[in-house]
Amino acid sequence: MIFVSFSLVSGHLKNLWIGKFSIFPEELFVHGISTRHGGGSTGAFDSLNLGLHVEDDANRVRHNRDILFEGLGLPRGQGITCQQVHGSKVVKVTRAQAGRGMYDYDQSIADTDGLITNEPGLPLMLFFADCTPILIVDPIHKAIGVGHGGWRGTVASIGVKMVEMMEQEYGSRPESLLAGIGPAIGPCCYEVGQEVAQQFRDAFPEFCDKIVMDKPNGKAKLNLWEANRLQLVGAGLKPENIDVAGVCTACNHRQFFSYRADGGRTGRIAAVLSIK
Ligand SMILES: [Zn+2]
Repeated sequence: MIFVSFSLVSGHLKNLWIGKFSIFPEELFVHGISTRHGGGSTGAFDSLNLGLHVEDDANRVRHNRDILFEGLGLPRGQGITCQQVHGSKVVKVTRAQAGRGMYDYDQSIADTDGLITNEPGLPLMLFFADCTPILIVDPIHKAIGVGHGGWRGTVASIGVKMVEMMEQEYGSRPESLLAGIGPAIGPCCYEVGQEVAQQFRDAFPEFCDKIVMDKPNGKAKLNLWEANRLQLVGAGLKPENIDVAGVCTACNHRQFFSYRADGGRTGRIAAVLSIK
């Protein structure tokens, strides 16, 4: 993953940093992962908070979303968001739903943590503060998906569900899919209780030793980046077609929003992905 900065492209764009997966073909797809820089929110939400559900001023968040879309060259207000309830439901969306949730959280696609589409010009946007952004593109069938992999979504294999739905809906073949795993809390910082660790051991016996590391204090470190990467490999993606940012949002909470490092009251970065 590389980060590109925008400054003074217009009056709004100042110090906007956008992360890009270098394996995604720029001629086919528009994508970016934001940082906390470049927006107009203040305090705990300083400055590019993109979450409408975190007690920030709603008009500032709406403006921040416009800033990000402007930076990406996308039409403001025309994306689709979902409510992200730490489930694993993936929904196929179409142009008829353009704009859902962009300026009003209640209009987001309900009870959903992953979106897929094959409609050009229909940006998918999901929000994160430590949870894992999972972005998938199919350059052959021109289809995309974005998922929210917190520990609950990851243990429920939401990335695999996205791949399976893209196969069913668009004829995607896993071996030609490209995936990006964005900035999220890393194995350095993500400590969980044994009740969570055990769910991962039960769900992924074949690779649990690579993602769950017991600690002397009785808790465990969990590697969500690797859990999601190994799931996608298991679903048939080629390892060389998966780009892992490897950036910990808690270690780097001055660049990103981190629910844990910021003590719960914080903003959200966004992952945006669209077919050109
Ligand atoms: Zn860390």
